[in-house]
Amino acid sequence: MKNKNNYDYLLADLTKLNGVGKKTMEILKKKKVNNIFDLLWRLPKSYTDRTLVSKICDLQIGVIQTIRIVPLKYQFPRVRNLPNRVNCIDETGTIDCIFFNSHEGYVRKILPLNEEITISGKISNYKGRYQITNPTYISQDSSLIENIDNKYSLTEGITEKTYNKIINQILKNLPILTEWHDKDILKTFNNESWNEFIIKLHDPKNIENFKSDFYKRLAYDEILASFLVNSEIRKKIKKIKKVSKNFSGNAHNNIISKLDFTLTSDQKISLNDINKDLNSKSKMFRLLQGDVGSGKTIVALISSLSVVTSGFQVALMAPTEILARQHYSLAKELFPKNIKFELLSSKSENSEKKRIVKGLENNEIQMVFGTHAIFQKKIIFANLGYIIIDEQHKFGVRQRKLLSDKGGDNCDVLLMSATPIPRTLTMSVYGDMDVSIIKEKPSNRKEVKTYSKLENKIDDVINFVKKEIKEGNQIFWVCPLIEESKKLDHQSSITKYKFLNEIFPNKVALLHGKIDNEEKEEILNKFLNKKYSILVSTTIIEVGIDFPNANVIIIENANKFGLSQLHQLRGRVGRGTKQASCILMFKSNLSVNAKKRINILKNSNDGFEISEEDMKLRGFGDLLGFKQSGIKNFRLADPIQNEDLFLMAEKQIKKIELENIDIKKYKALLKLYDQADIINDMV
Ligand code: ADP
Ligand code: MG
Repeated sequence: MKNKNNYDYLLADLTKLNGVGKKTMEILKKKKVNNIFDLLWRLPKSYTDRTLVSKICDLQIGVIQTIRIVPLKYQFPRVRNLPNRVNCIDETGTIDCIFFNSHEGYVRKILPLNEEITISGKISNYKGRYQITNPTYISQDSSLIENIDNKYSLTEGITEKTYNKIINQILKNLPILTEWHDKDILKTFNNESWNEFIIKLHDPKNIENFKSDFYKRLAYDEILASFLVNSEIRKKIKKIKKVSKNFSGNAHNNIISKLDFTLTSDQKISLNDINKDLNSKSKMFRLLQGDVGSGKTIVALISSLSVVTSGFQVALMAPTEILARQHYSLAKELFPKNIKFELLSSKSENSEKKRIVKGLENNEIQMVFGTHAIFQKKIIFANLGYIIIDEQHKFGVRQRKLLSDKGGDNCDVLLMSATPIPRTLTMSVYGDMDVSIIKEKPSNRKEVKTYSKLENKIDDVINFVKKEIKEGNQIFWVCPLIEESKKLDHQSSITKYKFLNEIFPNKVALLHGKIDNEEKEEILNKFLNKKYSILVSTTIIEVGIDFPNANVIIIENANKFGLSQLHQLRGRVGRGTKQASCILMFKSNLSVNAKKRINILKNSNDGFEISEEDMKLRGFGDLLGFKQSGIKNFRLADPIQNEDLFLMAEKQIKKIELENIDIKKYKALLKLYDQADIINDMV
């Protein structure tokens, strides 16, 4: 019987299914299949057609075929390791069924003499006789065999047969869900239901039929669900009432007067967005997105000072200590003397830490800088009103929500990220937040000049480096990324370090993954203070650190990196006023496609544009940071192939928000596709 209007079946535990016990369930759980719904998205890769019944005389060796045979004679050898054998016939010839590791009783039972049996399996030839070894498909009821079996990418411990049985069982019992889409949307997908489309999705004839309506609708469902959840989180946060921050423009002007540059108009617009939110009676949950070097820090500091003058505390969290320290030092230059702010560092003396913790608790300290350590349980803020998180692209929606909750209702939240993402993805990655974007670079910036060089031209590169060092500039030397092996990565950076150190004695520092955090910070600090001219490193030159004196970045084996990643690396230089350069090195001549990619990079300094192109060239899963970013991985939807669906979903969300449409009608969609607690308080 079908379950009417009931999605509970789909969310049920796998053991609900006939033929799935604890063991199978555990195996599938390891593959992140937790319930029946999850199983629906493991799609057939190909299929085996067992519907065609052959005669023995027509059999082909090496092919899976179905035949109807009559067992004539058993051969049960008394010698260990020899297989049991059953001679069988049809009216056109003979074939042997071979069973290794089998009991006599079992063979007698499944192949009773003189009965017609249907079997299916791969046919082989042994000493001129047809044979079929350990056939799994044997039955007196031919209808059980003469089917089309889908081939799924299987998991060890589950046979194709079992798997097909499970899937067929689910497809047969699919509940009829109440349609969640409006008529006009349904029309675009040929008015068919989710239910019908799921069945089509598993129809072997439809394998990889990405352009079909069923595929598109199911992808659209998925996109809309993800956008809806984000939009609901956003609405929910915006409904939180808070005490508004009251401040004059004094703090702002005070800082501006100390700067030797003027803010770009995007910086001003962003500050305006932020101030409006801070002044309002609703909680702020905003993302400040801006390419590397676009000047987000100053926006954060100006708004922080404003909040401090309104009587609330501020916490600024950076991903690393060195970055936290850098922000803190900038505040030291810019904040008025009477403001009490501290850096909470793991290196501080215990007594110092205690003093800061106490100061935050009794409201004597107005602002604190630090890493995630500032959100430890033992740290209690007397009156926290503003949290800023720098370089947060590794946080997913749920982590952000947690953080926002943790600050309390009165606490505004600003996240800053330098990871530009393609437009189609904005709603899935940041749809839970309001977004301000700094597109414009400070006007004093010269674009970083980007060159490509073959590795055998290293002498030219060395000469160039010599010249730069003479002019007092510093150089980043990024060693090849060796994906296959961390050990090789490590070795190659050491080799490069030795090589460069011979040419530039005492001027080279080395950073690699095996150096612990403390030492790493020390090296970076020394480099920042110009104790070295060249910093050799494996990929990770800390995000966000401002090295105004670093003017050249050399990236070896550049074709191993994604464009966005190269752009981020390139953004480490060119922060001062001098002309900066980025040299991309290659092992061999570039392919046409690789040239295309490098040209995009040479011709554009716009991270958003580059991320679009990068996504088109590499697919979205590979984009910088996505794997760690917490971005939901779509099961069917593809941001490149289905751009239209993403835009359509965006439009639908706007409509839902604008017309205040009750999202209860999407309850089943959300419950199924998101399966998270957040949904429970929404619908
Ligand atoms: P990011 O957005 O990558 O965090 P930063 O805030 O570190 O960038 O800024 C990079 C550099 O640009 C800093 O040295 C900063 O002082 C400088 N800067 C910021 N805004 C401007 C501006 N409007 N004009 C000139 N330089 C600026
Ligand atoms: Mg920054």
